Amino acid sequence: MKRASIYITLLLLAFTGAMVTSALWTYKLSMQAAMGNLKTAATNMAVNLDFTLNNLGLRRYYFQKLVSSGDWEAVAFLALYNRDSEVLLHSNINLIGLRMKDPHIQRVFATGIPMDHFMTLGTGEKVYVLDYPLHYHREGKLRTEVLRIALHTYPAMGVVRKARFQLTLSLAATGVLWILTFLLIFYIRRSIRMERQLAEKERLALLGEMAAILAHEIRNPIGSIKGFAQLLMEKKEDDSPEREFLQTMVEECIRLEKLVRDLLHYAREERLRLSTFLLKELVEECVKQSEGQREDIKLAIEISDNLTITSDRDKLKQILLNLIQNSQEAMKQEGTLTIRAHEKGDKIVLEIQDQGKGMTPEVRERIFQPFFTTKSQGTGLGMAIVKKLTEQLEGQIHVESSYGQGSVFRLILPKKVSPQ
Ligand code: ADP
Ligand code: MG
Repeated sequence: MKRASIYITLLLLAFTGAMVTSALWTYKLSMQAAMGNLKTAATNMAVNLDFTLNNLGLRRYYFQKLVSSGDWEAVAFLALYNRDSEVLLHSNINLIGLRMKDPHIQRVFATGIPMDHFMTLGTGEKVYVLDYPLHYHREGKLRTEVLRIALHTYPAMGVVRKARFQLTLSLAATGVLWILTFLLIFYIRRSIRMERQLAEKERLALLGEMAAILAHEIRNPIGSIKGFAQLLMEKKEDDSPEREFLQTMVEECIRLEKLVRDLLHYAREERLRLSTFLLKELVEECVKQSEGQREDIKLAIEISDNLTITSDRDKLKQILLNLIQNSQEAMKQEGTLTIRAHEKGDKIVLEIQDQGKGMTPEVRERIFQPFFTTKSQGTGLGMAIVKKLTEQLEGQIHVESSYGQGSVFRLILPKKVSPQ
């Protein structure tokens, strides 16, 4: 799925990239075409006017008439300047005779070639401007004047507006496509994950059934073997060499019984039975049950008397018993095992801290894997059970451990488990 997501993303990138690039190109070309059109129109007018002005001379109302006649509808204004920046003619006759310094016109006088640019009028409208040099004889002298033709850009820019619209549309489509694709990938991934979880659940259920059958079939024979071995052992003299063999038989039977029990616990899917109880009381119960196993280890409880929790009491007890047992087994010498809890928002943080041998990062990585154990007599199911039950109680478990210095198991449990 990861690879498929990458391919889909790349494909989308290529497709939307091509779409946006093509829209950009269209925009650029239409802009060039519009500019070309404006330039051609303005130059045609300039050539026309050059001819007429040469023949008719400067008539005061000429430009005004031209613009107001509507023959040249795109014209915003027309003006004619001499070298001293004086306005010789203008479509707004009030401006005739004024001096208007304009760097663009100065430049056309200096270079003698037509130049175009955009300018913004007093009305806020942006117009296209062509400054065109005219050379002609008047009063016996060769004169140069500059004709300014300002055109409304609106008609010529129609195609540009369309291209801009297309560009906006493809950008929006790109955005929508990206969002949709990510949503799709997200949902597909989620459904795959859920399918896997379901398959895992089914596998566990099957394992549970098998374990139950196995337990039923194995438990009784093991019980008999253990019982008879114990009986035989009692009958043997204390120094009989067979006693040792029988002792091994009993120990192995106990180990098998534990394995079957753990496997049953791990595989069994049980519904939650919720109740509200005092956390300290439960912890004390677990401590009492575990204390007998290692008298050299002091068990300390740091939990306030009235801290209550709504959860599955039996499951929480199983979690605690497993954690305490592991901690005890990790402590070779005497030491203290501390169990503390505090509230944090709507959660309870429950810590089990030991002064045992700790774990290397490699071991720490694997402790929740079923059947992972570093002990010769271990089943490797304890922590897998803890993890499974914690998740069933809507909690999380975190481990901090440094090799040789002990470990802390931190359970984060909801104060109230939601009823199923
Ligand atoms: P088992 O106890 O049968 O080995 P568990 O699933 O309970 O199986 O634990 C798996 C492994 O995790 C242990 O073998 C041990 O290496 C490591 N482990 C668990 N708890 C502790 C602890 N408190 N200190 C050090 N190592 C631990
Ligand atoms: Mg264990």
